[in-house]
Amino acid sequence: MMKHAIFQRLMRIFALEKRRDHVLKPLAVLMAFVALYCVVHLLLLRHGLSTLPGSALTAAVVQLPFTTIAFALVTYMDRMQSQLAELAMTDVLTGLPNRRAFVARAGRAQMNGESGFVLIIDADHFKRINDTYGHAVGDRCLQAIAKRLNDVRRPEDTIGRIGGEEFGAFMPFCTMEEIARIGGRLCGAILVNLPEERHPLRLTLSVGAAETQPQEMIEAALSRADEALYAAKAGGRARLVVWSRSVMDRVA
Ligand code: GH3
Ligand code: MG
Ligand code: MG
Repeated sequence: MMKHAIFQRLMRIFALEKRRDHVLKPLAVLMAFVALYCVVHLLLLRHGLSTLPGSALTAAVVQLPFTTIAFALVTYMDRMQSQLAELAMTDVLTGLPNRRAFVARAGRAQMNGESGFVLIIDADHFKRINDTYGHAVGDRCLQAIAKRLNDVRRPEDTIGRIGGEEFGAFMPFCTMEEIARIGGRLCGAILVNLPEERHPLRLTLSVGAAETQPQEMIEAALSRADEALYAAKAGGRARLVVWSRSVMDRVA
């Protein structure tokens, strides 16, 4: 892990991000090389030893384009690595952060003391949609759900697709009134137009929410949100349930 971080830092140093880097960075390395050459040269002279061949200086100048090429390769590798890391954290279908990315980001925010609410948002009777209209239409519905989430979220919120037809949201510094308002907007029917159908497909979401406790792991809050989601399903779906001990006792 440590080795990886050091390597990444080194790559950043040698990466040619800006146009001027193509000249300045190889030149800096070249100057370091020449400086080292001079130091060794002087040391050898002081000890009465033979000096380094003068051609070493010429070699340093000749190596400039090769240094630039080597740095360009490092830059390419660095970009590829960033793209791969981004892909590994993104759900391809919806473009949202995947479960791993969501839990990591929400967990970091929660540990930074940004307490608020976590939400688990689950499509209602999604299996029926797949069975009736096919998997491709199901996929379009998932994209429509992601759009609803993007429309409803505040800039400071973290959202992600955490499972098949399940999504997550972490909403820091959120009051109960705000959660009720956001929940209302989330649970309103989503209409998906299908070219081959006369009427749009209507789908709904159930939402379980839980207030995060200071310094608790995000997984603990997610597990309470999951219990609240279960209550929302049991209560008839297309609704928000916020976790509280009394609500859970009633459902049990
Ligand atoms: P509930 O209201 O209780 O949540 O019922 P449900 O049918 O939504 O829940 P269930 O867990 O029975 O079914 C979830 C379905 O979601 C089954 C699975 O085929 C579908 N699904 C999961 N991932 C995808 C996906 O990426 N694309 C499509 N089209 N369907 C998916
Ligand atoms: Mg479902
Ligand atoms: Mg589900």
